[in-house]
Amino acid sequence: MNVQPDLDFIRSLKEAGGDTLKKCFQCATCSVMCPLSKEGKPFPRKEMIWAQWGMRDKLVTDPDVFLCHQCGDCTANCPRGAKPGDVLSAIRAYAYTFYGWPKPLAKLASSAKGLPILIGLPVVVIFVMWLLSGAMRFPTSEEFASHGYQQFFGTWDFRWYAKNIFFIAVIMGASLGLGLFAVFKGIRSMWKTMCAEAGLNKDYRPAVGQFIKEFLWPSLVEILKHDRFRECKTNIDRVQGHLPLMLAFIGLFIVTCWSLFKNDILGLFWPSLHGPLSLTDPFKILANVSAIALLFGIFVLWSNRKKAEAQLNTQATFYDWFLIWEIAAVGITGLGAEVLRWAGMPVIGYIVYFLHLVSVMMLFLYLPYTKFAHLFYRTSAYAFEKYRQSSFGKTA
Ligand code: SF4
Ligand code: SF4
Repeated sequence: MNVQPDLDFIRSLKEAGGDTLKKCFQCATCSVMCPLSKEGKPFPRKEMIWAQWGMRDKLVTDPDVFLCHQCGDCTANCPRGAKPGDVLSAIRAYAYTFYGWPKPLAKLASSAKGLPILIGLPVVVIFVMWLLSGAMRFPTSEEFASHGYQQFFGTWDFRWYAKNIFFIAVIMGASLGLGLFAVFKGIRSMWKTMCAEAGLNKDYRPAVGQFIKEFLWPSLVEILKHDRFRECKTNIDRVQGHLPLMLAFIGLFIVTCWSLFKNDILGLFWPSLHGPLSLTDPFKILANVSAIALLFGIFVLWSNRKKAEAQLNTQATFYDWFLIWEIAAVGITGLGAEVLRWAGMPVIGYIVYFLHLVSVMMLFLYLPYTKFAHLFYRTSAYAFEKYRQSSFGKTA
């Protein structure tokens, strides 16, 4: 086989934490130690040689790269100190940029050099929207006590649809819409290339119902229960951070959906529903519990990451830390804004709320290119694995 190594790809992997890939001498200890590696199709030994050879196209279409949970069992046992877990993580980081759309934004979000623009863009957008809204002032203590942040973007006479809700829906709807569209494009492209690489018969296409029932739903259940995560040994503590974080996102998702329904649909018929939730409202309680779970989860993952860097001598990467910082910023500013509201501090409260909007917009907008994308790509890889198994005997 004539291999043409992609040197830029190898360089990218080394910069993203895969700097030890050349140390591998193919002993296969890592594939034996990996608790998630399947008999007959082991990883990560094969990925290590592909990475050494710079076989980019082979790696970005390899579902096993996305099935790795970065537990570090392989890294802890590699006799050469090659850190295959970190190499696979670097390949995933590369893949999110590779499949990312629009390309300039995906590239920007892949490195710390892009941070000024990554932060500056939402800051400018939200500030301009604040100017356009005509609000442009801090509330009085009385206004702040009665409305909280409900008039951040001002008010208007159209009582059926609050101005604040309109502005937030435009900013966050556009950011999340763009993020999800980019994820959809990336996953579709990955799925097609994985099918081609696995030699799956083009005629074997399950119906939508079958796909959800046999491949997607079982994958989601497995992910929700953290079954594979729990098989890891070296970094098992990560479950204690990842699980509350995931549940926190589910809780906040439910609260956001309810909020949208209450404000954007019910509010059209009963305008009085446009106010803030009271502290005793069940959805407010869920929001607060989720925010605390989010902060707890991110604190555990933060400490765990620090511990892994110290114990396994793992390289600190922008890819790993950017998502931790982003989520921490969302949690701290969200809870901070609420505490400042109850403390009756309108000016600092408004500034922290502004930063909260910035951090939420960053989370949505950069979702397809940051580590957050693993939510979608790993779920797809789980589903693809089941799909591939179901296709045995039906390959082209
Ligand atoms: S990464 Fe380490 S354990 Fe795995 S094959 Fe290479 S040398 Fe062996
Ligand atoms: S980091 Fe864990 S899951 Fe990933 S290849 Fe290594 S042992 Fe397997």
